[in-house]
Amino acid sequence: MLLRHTPTDITDRKALMINPAKTCQPIGAMYASLGIHGCMPHSHGSQGCCSYHRSTLTRHFKEPVVAATSSFTEGSSVFGGQSNMIQAIDNIFTIYEPEIISVHTTCLSETIGDDLTQIVKKAYDDGKVPAGKHVIYAPTPSYVGSHVTGFSNMCKGIVSGFAEKTGEQKNQMNIIPGYVEPSDMAEIKRLTTEMGVKTVLFPDTSGVLNGPQTGRYHMFPKGGTTVEELKSSGDSLGTLALGSFASSLAAKLLDTKFKVPCRVLPLPIGLAATDRFIDTLRKLAGVTVPDSVTFERGQLVDVMTDMQQYLYGKKVALFGDPDQLIALTEFLVSLDMVPVHIVTGTPGKEFEATITELTKDSPVPVNVKAHSDMFQLHQWIKNEPVDLLMGNTYGKYIARDEDIPFVRHGFPILDRVGHSYFPTVGYRGGLRLLEQILNALLDRKDRDSSEESFELVM
Ligand code: SF4
Repeated sequence: MLLRHTPTDITDRKALMINPAKTCQPIGAMYASLGIHGCMPHSHGSQGCCSYHRSTLTRHFKEPVVAATSSFTEGSSVFGGQSNMIQAIDNIFTIYEPEIISVHTTCLSETIGDDLTQIVKKAYDDGKVPAGKHVIYAPTPSYVGSHVTGFSNMCKGIVSGFAEKTGEQKNQMNIIPGYVEPSDMAEIKRLTTEMGVKTVLFPDTSGVLNGPQTGRYHMFPKGGTTVEELKSSGDSLGTLALGSFASSLAAKLLDTKFKVPCRVLPLPIGLAATDRFIDTLRKLAGVTVPDSVTFERGQLVDVMTDMQQYLYGKKVALFGDPDQLIALTEFLVSLDMVPVHIVTGTPGKEFEATITELTKDSPVPVNVKAHSDMFQLHQWIKNEPVDLLMGNTYGKYIARDEDIPFVRHGFPILDRVGHSYFPTVGYRGGLRLLEQILNALLDRKDRDSSEESFELVM
């Protein structure tokens, strides 16, 4: 009983978080930067922050994640980190030769008020940025928001740093995929290729954080969105932002600055959300849906109907990132499952309103809270037990103490593999998610069945 001290009685807490359901902003900014080809993420702060961010990403993706740091000391913490950062930019371009340095701040540099716009300008003025190379940046103070906010801020930084309008419209769509796995980004690209739609997908960590073992180390793998693609995003037909929390900021900037119209959709997880994604793409790009995609959709519908008896009425507790939870909730409701406790660590009142709307026909009251923690979720579960728990690795403690089947989904997943390679977006992703849910429920059913009701065929 690792969490045996969690009490069943719930008291109102205002000034205390216990096991927040989120990580810090720079992790998301670092993740977004890794989806740009030839980009070195740079953490403007102390070495400890950078180590934590790198190690979280490395543990989740099981790949070496490289990033540089301004390496603040006592002096820079008091007088500002400008000289450290300019020296760092010089060193990084000289030693590691990236195409781009992508700078994000930390709590410390934000608190002392370092002005990234001014420091980056000075680096260019001082000749520290070689011709043809780039420095982009985003503020990511971690005392507000979460890793999702950091991802969103860096996506906006990518647009600010690269997007251009030449006046010559390109027959292509921008897609901002949201805070999803490299496997999901690859799946979105596969689907758009099947549809015959040319896209600029950014950031794109497929091939970067799920690449093959070749026996040779490449600091800058082949994957990632290129500078040329990013520049052309200002000439695209439109932008699809998947997941409003992670992607809408950058999409709206493309809209206001370059008049590239944007549509914000939920992540395409599950049948209805993927239908929405495919249909919007079809309309905006003026294409037809190929039989191959309709076939995949039919397979998902088939498994949903075949296995409905094992899903009906099952209560689920969910925690994680808001965009993921919104899409998951819609999918679970469509499976006739009952999401009852839903927690995200990321702030945002619209999250609560969206979940409330999605679960308005629920047969039982639904608990939902943004900017909350795992402690709250555990207390809710103690008061209203569930049949399934879904969330990142940190949920394993609650799952063990309460003896609940557990499906790992979201970020970070530190104790399993698969998430980087098998998508959960699209129809095929929906099938995988459904398989995971069914395996967890049916394994439990097998475990708990008496000998006379222990079935070979389910
Ligand atoms: S919360 Fe702030 S101080 Fe802590 S690791 Fe993140 S950026 Fe650094």
